[in-house]
Amino acid sequence: MIHFDNVTKVYPNQNRPALQHVNVAIEKGEFLFLVGPSGSGKSTFLRLVLKEERPSQGHVHVAGKDLNRLTNWKVPHLRRRIGCVFQDFRLLPNKNVFENVAFALEVIGKPRRFIAKVVPEVIDLVGLEGKAHRMPDELSGGEQQRVAIARAFVNRPMILLADEPTGNIDPATSIGIMKVLDRINRTGTTVVMATHDAAIVDAFRKRVVELEDGRVVRDQSRGVYGQAY
Ligand code: ADP
Ligand code: ADP
Repeated sequence: MIHFDNVTKVYPNQNRPALQHVNVAIEKGEFLFLVGPSGSGKSTFLRLVLKEERPSQGHVHVAGKDLNRLTNWKVPHLRRRIGCVFQDFRLLPNKNVFENVAFALEVIGKPRRFIAKVVPEVIDLVGLEGKAHRMPDELSGGEQQRVAIARAFVNRPMILLADEPTGNIDPATSIGIMKVLDRINRTGTTVVMATHDAAIVDAFRKRVVELEDGRVVRDQSRGVYGQAY
């Protein structure tokens, strides 16, 4: 589903590569934690999958397509098939839960009847049943992140990218967020989650890819956050 083939990324006017010679193959339906210190290249990895950045060397393949060869006018189509969740939720403050989730479908022209059917289903899936009318500022951080996940997933993307999704949430609530991501993964969606959250990585025992100075230093199935020596 996502193949990094000897990918090096050097940003303009930087001499240190953000990623160097990265080889990672993520298959359909996998759940992968991307770990490593701040500045190790995690966000760059996610941006390359979205074609927000281009490799300086090597190739990124998503769903069988070499992104170097994907024409610009096809990039919106790629991004539509990839859901994104961020540390800071990024909800529309003037729209309620239903409207925040529905908006993701409205902008791609889905019919109103379809929206009215699928949005409540996804609101239930993320555990917000009964809260469709709430405004973001009437929700806890964990609930806001559930809305953001619902919005990212409502279009049934093939891939969900999550950048520090539990970074602003307390540990107990984070477990609930992870259960939602796990539920989404079990529908067949490939999930890649960049995180510093050692407790979460250790509790969920998924594949762990560790970056250090832009290099893959560990790729472990059912891994833990820190290398066990
Ligand atoms: P992480 O997400 O693990 O914190 P990043 O991918 O954001 O790591 O950063 C990797 C390296 O690339 C860092 O040295 C960072 O300073 C650099 N970097 C990231 N984005 C840019 C950019 N837009 N321009 C220049 N350098 C960048
Ligand atoms: P109720 O019948 O209890 O009012 P609805 O599911 O109809 O509940 O509406 C929930 C919220 O979602 C309301 O704030 C409404 O404005 C909004 N809403 C309902 N249907 C749509 C739609 N098709 N498109 C966008 N927003 C909608």
